[in-house]
Amino acid sequence: MTRPAVGRLAPSPTGLLHLGNAWAFLLAWLSARSQGGRVLLRMEDLDPQRSRPAFADAILQDLKWLGLDWDAGPDTCVAAGAEAALGPLVQSRRGHIYAAALARLEAAGLTYPCFCSRKELRQLASAPHLGEEEAHRADPCRNLDTAERERLLAAGRHAALRLRCPEEAIAFDDEIMGPQLFAPGDFGGDFALRRSDGVMAYQLAVAVDDGLMGVTEVVRGRDLLPSTPRQLLVMRSLGLAAPRYAHIPLLLDAEGERLAKRHASLSLAALRTQGVAPARIVGYLAELAGINPSGAPAHPRELVGCFSLKALPRADMRVMEEDMARLFGEH
Ligand code: GLU
Repeated sequence: MTRPAVGRLAPSPTGLLHLGNAWAFLLAWLSARSQGGRVLLRMEDLDPQRSRPAFADAILQDLKWLGLDWDAGPDTCVAAGAEAALGPLVQSRRGHIYAAALARLEAAGLTYPCFCSRKELRQLASAPHLGEEEAHRADPCRNLDTAERERLLAAGRHAALRLRCPEEAIAFDDEIMGPQLFAPGDFGGDFALRRSDGVMAYQLAVAVDDGLMGVTEVVRGRDLLPSTPRQLLVMRSLGLAAPRYAHIPLLLDAEGERLAKRHASLSLAALRTQGVAPARIVGYLAELAGINPSGAPAHPRELVGCFSLKALPRADMRVMEEDMARLFGEH
């Protein structure tokens, strides 16, 4: 039986949203809504060093300004009914949920503490006698005996907790990128579920959240493709149902660099301040997505009926100066 569609927008409040984020969130939103599905907004503020509450507030404001909405998010009351099962939609408030998942993986013998420093791991990965296939298993902590592990932990050594990856390759079908096959060596092998400073790792949190929140589809930038086999492994290990994945092409600047937070002039806040109407941005992004050939201004709601992931180009796209000039044109 197919589950009703549940999509999610999962911003990290480490900066202001830019045009590239708007592109990914618009497509994720359209994909869920075009199936009559629900949209969750999950604030991914896991990293205390990089996350700022002010960015989280600005992100909510920017998404609403663009015309995107959500059925549950950090700003909605999730205390009642079906929403209660979701728990808080802010990762920094879900520590107990991640800890419980981690405890299950530990109890199943699927994890091990890794005492290596970053430098030691880098050296291991580049050791000339190891092929890529072997490097991911070269971590000496993988095979420490219990007594040695206990000794290091008792001595107060900080350890990351890693998932012991199986030998087999992970296969999945990406809605856009097609069939994928990742051997453990392709995604770096045993990966951290909890960092050595105690912060839960992105891979664990996202997999647990997507699984427990009943997300049926993940639409996100193709830069996150190599995270997918890791997240699938976590979900499988925990017996959680996995979503479908659609990794979309990226927006690049005129030099071919991926749009990022450093492109301050392309932040939605900057565009708004300069008087660019949100419908223009949405119309332009929809044109890139192949569903609005004229590029005419549009509200996301108006695009729901014509949306199809199939119309999406497969290659990354450059945002050129003339495109920007159009955004800033008469309105
Ligand atoms: N929070 C992540 C980011 O902003 C995205 C996570 C995801 O979509 O899986 O890069």
